[in-house]
Amino acid sequence: MNQSLRPFIVARAEACIGCRACELACGAAHVPAGATVGSLGGPVVPRLYLVREGALCLPVACRHCEAAPCAAVCPTAAIHCDASGVVVVTGRCIGCKTCLAACPVGAMALAEVVENGRPVMHRIVDAGAPEGYLETPALLASKCDLCRERPAGPACVAACPTGALECVEPARLRQDRLRAAALALAGAPSRDDRGAAS
Ligand code: SF4
Ligand code: SF4
Repeated sequence: MNQSLRPFIVARAEACIGCRACELACGAAHVPAGATVGSLGGPVVPRLYLVREGALCLPVACRHCEAAPCAAVCPTAAIHCDASGVVVVTGRCIGCKTCLAACPVGAMALAEVVENGRPVMHRIVDAGAPEGYLETPALLASKCDLCRERPAGPACVAACPTGALECVEPARLRQDRLRAAALALAGAPSRDDRGAAS
């Protein structure tokens, strides 16, 4: 198995209570360091999204696809893939929404992006304006970056009060599944069973 598969966030629906602590933690993790309620300069925008459908309740985040459709379709090469994830290079994004349409799980959003404490702005030609243009907050591609700037790892995982979220390393996940399958096929108690029995 390729050991360099990118990690991603998974959520267990049976453990999620829909409290939105993950969304809040995500939004807070992506505001500039040192910003306070009075100095944010823009909205607090999450990059994973709680979905409720009947009895189901589950946050959805970017899967950091190995053959990322969002990166493949971006006309400005604003979506960059490396060993640790799929990230948006904000300075190259033009907000065309092609990536939003291509993402199979709805993880890509167009949102106000805050940099250096201020929303990234764009100019709209307006002959009536004194400068000949107006400036408004740009809506740019925005998605989970696995909190790559945060040494402690993804903020949503740390904030979830029920342990519903996990940042999964694919190679480790497969090894755990293989071990569990081998034990089950051999009729041996799983590690969890042995722990419960002791
Ligand atoms: S935004 Fe969507 S398409 Fe792009 S890597 Fe994430 S899950 Fe895949
Ligand atoms: S913090 Fe955990 S329990 Fe709360 S909404 Fe997010 S995943 Fe669900």
